[in-house]
Amino acid sequence: MGRQVRRAFKFRFYPTGEQAAELSRTFGCVRLVYNKALEERTRAWYGEQRRISYVQSSALLTQWKKTQELAFLAEVSCVPLQQALRHLQTAFANFFAKRAAYPRFKSRKRSRCSAEYTRSAFTWRDGRLTLAKMTTPLDIRWSRPLPDGAEPTTVTVSRDGAGRWFVSLLCQDTIPAAPATEAAVGVDAGITSLVALSTGEKITNPRHERRDHARLAEAQRNLARKAPGSANRDKARRKVARVHARIADRRRDLLHKLSSRLVRENQTVVIEDLAVGNLLKNRTLARAISDAAWRELRFMLEYKCAWYGRDLVVLDRWFPSSKLCAACGTIRGKLPLDVREWTCECGAVHDRDVNAARNLLAAGLAVTACGDGVRPQRDTPRTGHSSMKQETQRATAGIPHL
Ligand SMILES: [Zn+2]
Repeated sequence: MGRQVRRAFKFRFYPTGEQAAELSRTFGCVRLVYNKALEERTRAWYGEQRRISYVQSSALLTQWKKTQELAFLAEVSCVPLQQALRHLQTAFANFFAKRAAYPRFKSRKRSRCSAEYTRSAFTWRDGRLTLAKMTTPLDIRWSRPLPDGAEPTTVTVSRDGAGRWFVSLLCQDTIPAAPATEAAVGVDAGITSLVALSTGEKITNPRHERRDHARLAEAQRNLARKAPGSANRDKARRKVARVHARIADRRRDLLHKLSSRLVRENQTVVIEDLAVGNLLKNRTLARAISDAAWRELRFMLEYKCAWYGRDLVVLDRWFPSSKLCAACGTIRGKLPLDVREWTCECGAVHDRDVNAARNLLAAGLAVTACGDGVRPQRDTPRTGHSSMKQETQRATAGIPHL
């Protein structure tokens, strides 16, 4: 028997002109409602140390719709607006629980816009999805099938910086059990590779990565040369966004394959808390894998381990994994970043990254054995200004997009 999980399935779709206009209007209203409610809550909190509840902010929304200047809010579906208030509520709950920084305004310049529809705001019939205020179903490209008999409970529509439209459907799904195994693996953010495994395997960057980065640099230079406010600048901005999107898509694909494999093959996966650890490494060398990619990999490992009943051990950042000899336990005083291979006094020859992965594994297994020092697995957002944080702050927190 498998495990029942709520899982989001994401697809591209192509809106009609009318649908695109309706969605753009909705995105604008979602942003406005979120920002206005944030403003009110900020005033209440910093002015009077008073907290505004979701119910109170919802009452405010009703009032705004009655004013002349905000009457247009009543023209779009009210559900995405209510959902925006719920997301803000979650953001504040995380802030008050010290899990996240103070909520920030949604900028008009922010490239990604989204709107969330709950069950009452869409119809799902014979595999066709029609949103509130629309007469025709969305033209969705079903790149893979939904689970048998799946009924979406929440639908999120978004548009990325490259102007691509996506719809994400939250459905119930059954995750098959993974094969039983006792294997364990340490995974380190490599300096000479993308990641190094304690098994000695090194996973390198995809070959197209360097070319993509060169393209990105060129597109950015081109953008910088364009006059502000010009049509050409807009075109150049879109080009930059497209290259960014391609890099992110390929990276996500690679990380999905890697995380699935690690979770399938191992009962225990040990990683370092790299969101910070990676910053300590040389930026130019560590560009091989960005902080964002690490957060993404960790996020994937977290939910996939939960799905398959595997253990993810996250070690603290201070752990001197590269400088510690995995064979004899001696800590090397200095290990310059350009040293890829080193020989310990005990005679062991180490690949820098693989040695670090082996140390991570050993430390991870040690802390699991004595039950000390393991960070509890959190299903709540971490602090930081990542895109992932925004992902997890949604009402569907912790439910991954695939
Ligand atoms: Zn040694």
